Amino acid sequence: MLCYSEVMLRKMRNIGIMAHIDAGKTTTTERILFYTGKSHRIGEVDDGEATMDWMEQEQQRGITIQSAATTTYWKGCQVNIIDTPGHVDFTAEVERSLRVLDGAIAIFDAVHGVEPQTETVWRQAQRYQVPCIGYVNKMDRTGADFYFVIEDVRKKLGANTVPLQIPIVTDGSAGNRFEGVIDLIEMKEIRWEGSEGENMAFSPIAAGREAAAKEWREKLIDALSRVSDTVTEKYLAGEELDTALIRTELRKAVLMRQILPMFAGASRRNTGVQPLIDAVSDYLPAPDEALPAVGHHVKKEENITIPCDPKGQPLGLVFKIQNDREAGSLCYVRMYSGSIKPGAAVFNVGKKKRERANRILRMHSNKSEPVDELSAGDIGVVIGMKLAQTGDTIGSEGWPVMLEKMQFPEPVVSVAIEPKTISEQDKLKDILAILSKEDPTFTTRENEETGQLIISGMGELHLDVLVTRILRDFKVSARAGKPQVTYRESIGATAEHSENFSRVIAGKENAAGLGLRVESAQRGTGNKYICAVKSGIIPEEIFNAVGRGINGAFASGIVMGYPCIDIAVTVTDIRYSELTGTEFAFEACASMAFDEACRAASPFLLEPIMAVNLTSPHEFVGEVMSLVTQRGGHVQNMNAKSGIDEIKALAPMAQMFGFMTALRSVSQGRAGFTMEFSHFEKKGR
Ligand code: GDP
Ligand code: MG
Repeated sequence: MLCYSEVMLRKMRNIGIMAHIDAGKTTTTERILFYTGKSHRIGEVDDGEATMDWMEQEQQRGITIQSAATTTYWKGCQVNIIDTPGHVDFTAEVERSLRVLDGAIAIFDAVHGVEPQTETVWRQAQRYQVPCIGYVNKMDRTGADFYFVIEDVRKKLGANTVPLQIPIVTDGSAGNRFEGVIDLIEMKEIRWEGSEGENMAFSPIAAGREAAAKEWREKLIDALSRVSDTVTEKYLAGEELDTALIRTELRKAVLMRQILPMFAGASRRNTGVQPLIDAVSDYLPAPDEALPAVGHHVKKEENITIPCDPKGQPLGLVFKIQNDREAGSLCYVRMYSGSIKPGAAVFNVGKKKRERANRILRMHSNKSEPVDELSAGDIGVVIGMKLAQTGDTIGSEGWPVMLEKMQFPEPVVSVAIEPKTISEQDKLKDILAILSKEDPTFTTRENEETGQLIISGMGELHLDVLVTRILRDFKVSARAGKPQVTYRESIGATAEHSENFSRVIAGKENAAGLGLRVESAQRGTGNKYICAVKSGIIPEEIFNAVGRGINGAFASGIVMGYPCIDIAVTVTDIRYSELTGTEFAFEACASMAFDEACRAASPFLLEPIMAVNLTSPHEFVGEVMSLVTQRGGHVQNMNAKSGIDEIKALAPMAQMFGFMTALRSVSQGRAGFTMEFSHFEKKGR
């Protein structure tokens, strides 16, 4: 017997919707929210009114950037929809949402089939072993071809596509007309009626379509018998397969990712969406059927799998933070074990601090609703946590388990931003602090010489979106410069330096003296700071001040003020006098000593090298390759797959600005690419 909370768990789905831009993700999501009764009128993407597209600018760009989670209900099943962004610059966002969803709907365009970004997202989903169902949208368009898409997905994505429906397409005076679908399990025709397609009309299969329906049902049963012994036995014994059995066996196959069931529809025409929602509950996993999360026990130093048990110890992942003008930080949390209640203290495992979860909300498309518990498997918003950052694990002190850390790429592109008036400088700094808490992939710093604020992120579009948010959503009037590469700095030799500092401020002398050594550390190991001086009479605060001075100096190197990496600093001598030694003096002295030592240690710049993955139709591959080479790229690997070639290359970020436009123009818009940070390399090699 399952207990109540386990029954609830079985009726829960955490799903994402993945698609190439413009395949109809927003339109389909809107329809799902409408039919599930939570949003009251259908918002059209083209009017910029879609409910899921959270921010004003997303609507204007017509793309979805942030992954908000929306809860809705369908036939007693709770569906949490996690919005996944489709743009290449936001792969970190995609990864982040893949971490917390258990199943996905993959949307394909009925005319275009598999497009480059679908392929990228599909591969990411495979890495996380996410069970999927497929939806062929835009069946109403001229040139729509359901069977072509079935084959295309099979060939390009290697998925075992099995139609559970076939489209009903009739010849009309104005071309082919998509009328509805034939359900191959129920063996009925379905058409959509009512002003918003809210009613489905079922009818027997018309004589002219019977043969095709039989043929495709045969294929469905055949595919099922290949993965299900039960089906094979019944089939061989000549027994009739009842619909319940077909669904149960299909469910098992989808969960094991042996079958990708395919559906057809035209969301824009309000056709085909309800069976897709049925399929979410019929075939996609409940949280306790998904792969269990893996965590690291901090004290025992071992990895453990975490059973999805509402009665277990509390454990959750903060996968997204959004700033709300009224409520403050909205922390989107996926619970993996146990439960949390409003008003209770939660333990931030990484930061080793407790804080209070004042309120817990469930987000619907147009309102939020307070809940009195968030338990294993579920997703909601916690309000009141000030320390939590995207990627943090929350749990309890008694069971210090860290969920796998999310990997965020290094910020490699920056832009200077300057308020139009001095008075807005502080406001701008506050906004940048809020934004960096929401988005761990961007950082901000101040250029010491010019006083300009520099923001750094993963790519051109990423920064463009951030700047637009600052200007439009937060209403600061500021000027942004051109995007530039964020270099790093390091040293190539060992050097020592001894520095003395003395300054009279308000009649009092502030003096410090210290010696240190800088050495180059192995690439990728980060900066290290050691103080080799024994404490003796030197107070704790002075040591701390020296540490602050060194860490501050790491943040901006001596070549061009870029952050330093892979430098090891050892403080070998501290000359302290009780009379004149102050924290201020030691902090300044340490920073100056570091700079001087680095100057003598062959400092150099490091540039970010990007891993570029390209897909190109075979006929354009020559042009695409020469474009990559022109931009200083080195092709690492090429893979030809049925008409589409895959190219992997390494290229310096400095030469990748505007690459998207150039790639489109050499390939008639048909080649695609994704790019992420790979490593730093000494500049000018
Ligand atoms: P997204 O980028 O994947 O979120 O795609 P959208 O939902 O924004 O849709 C992109 C464009 O395709 C919009 O102009 C939609 O109106 C249109 N569209 C979406 N679904 C359909 C459909 O079923 N048929 C047709 N003809 N157009 C559609
Ligand atoms: Mg969209």
